[in-house]
Amino acid sequence: MTDIVLDPAALAAHLAGKHFIDGKLVPAAAGATFDVRSPATGALVAKAAAGDAADVDRAVASAATAQIAWAKVPARQRGKLVGDCARLLDAHKEELSRLIALETGKALRTESRVEAGVLADALHFYAGLGSELKGETVPFNPDMLTMTIREPIGVVGAIIPWNVPMMLMALKIAPALVAGNTVVVKSAEEAPFAVLRICELMGTILPPGAFNMLSGMGPECGAPLVSHPKVGKITFTGSVETGKIVSKLAADKLIPVTLELGGKSPMIVMDDCDLDRTVAGAIAGMRFTRMGQSCTASSRMYVQAGVHDRFVAALKAKVDAMKMGDPLDETTDIGTIVSQGQFEKVKNYIAIGIADGGTANECSAMPADAKLKPGYYVRPVIFTGLPASSRVIREEIFGPVTAVIRFNTFDEAIAAANDSEYGLAATIWTKDLKTALDGARRLQAGFVQVNQNLVVQPGLSYGGVKSSGLGKEATLEAMLEHFTTKKTVIVNLA
Ligand code: ADP
Repeated sequence: MTDIVLDPAALAAHLAGKHFIDGKLVPAAAGATFDVRSPATGALVAKAAAGDAADVDRAVASAATAQIAWAKVPARQRGKLVGDCARLLDAHKEELSRLIALETGKALRTESRVEAGVLADALHFYAGLGSELKGETVPFNPDMLTMTIREPIGVVGAIIPWNVPMMLMALKIAPALVAGNTVVVKSAEEAPFAVLRICELMGTILPPGAFNMLSGMGPECGAPLVSHPKVGKITFTGSVETGKIVSKLAADKLIPVTLELGGKSPMIVMDDCDLDRTVAGAIAGMRFTRMGQSCTASSRMYVQAGVHDRFVAALKAKVDAMKMGDPLDETTDIGTIVSQGQFEKVKNYIAIGIADGGTANECSAMPADAKLKPGYYVRPVIFTGLPASSRVIREEIFGPVTAVIRFNTFDEAIAAANDSEYGLAATIWTKDLKTALDGARRLQAGFVQVNQNLVVQPGLSYGGVKSSGLGKEATLEAMLEHFTTKKTVIVNLA
């Protein structure tokens, strides 16, 4: 079905209980399903197919068969087809935004539409890179023509999370497909429908089997995908714990793995910053509109003593002015937390911060609407006065909880920022060029920004160091390194 369906409940009903295998929406082999509920109201969105090893087998068999023909399609033509998918998904942006808002609780205006835009952008970016799958000629011996060829790996398994599933999926499937691989995606249990709709739409353009999708639980459906003998590569975004499990399973087969994991991203605010701009950057960076559910969330804000109190007051005033509410309501700034598990986890961290002696500055207000009473709403919290040892400062919360930490010298701030197991993103706010460049060089992170806080951009390398991951995404190099193998060919001319 390619009509634009703006009623997300109707669209979810159409996708209920289905995987996408071999170009068709099909039920799970065992017929099993699980409930997906609206995190805003608790109402059933629809039942999703609960995949298992038998479904993995079907999807991988389809992908393996399709890959032989797909690899023979000229690279630029593969790119053109991915570009056609981008245009189709662009036309369906509003419907996808509404569906993702319903299933994840992300606010339509501030979050879901933004994600749907980046989804198409990522596909557009890779669509033009087919002709860059080049090899080299090597001056090895004048009597031997020596060259390298970039070849696809085969079947790629992609495991995605629930926070920005459409965008993160695009960063995986677009380079994999353009490089001549076929893909089996395992969606996150909390957000199976918007990505499934993307499959259905792309299935009208791509050959059957090029792109398959399974929904289901991690151990029952994700693990057999990683372990399947015909899957030659895994690309994963999720938590550090699950990343380690996936990495160990992949190691048993000696296949390559790309891991985009957690973060605890520092924001360093110097006394000489532009305060208004910095506070706006803190709101964007902390992803308050997404309830902080981002691996790059600026969840540690190191603020120099001279500006600390003014920064906290201005930040609190701005978050206070944001409206929590129904994710599908145009006036809502902040939607919900995605699930009960995350909700409990966030509340637990707030309790830990208070027990550690921190001041929990609660912001905004709970929604008044009675139908949102069962929703997973937590008032955003700006902690001050926490000791550096607090778990609120050291661990990834993935919720609307940030800690503001006072510092005196720049060296002190850099040392504190780097004192973390994570290294995904960081920002520095200053008018002094030397401080900015010095910080950019010294911060242990994959992505450092000065005086701004953009989200992932196609064409800019994205990924972390330390426990934040292995391998970078979103660039041409990412396509070449993660989705092709290099073959050396020597032709003896003597
Ligand atoms: P979160 O805790 O934020 O939900 P996870 O890392 O558990 O993050 O989930 C990210 C993705 O990994 C989801 O699609 C999930 O189903 C999947 N997953 C969870 N456990 C496993 C596992 N043992 N093997 C493979 N995939 C898994």
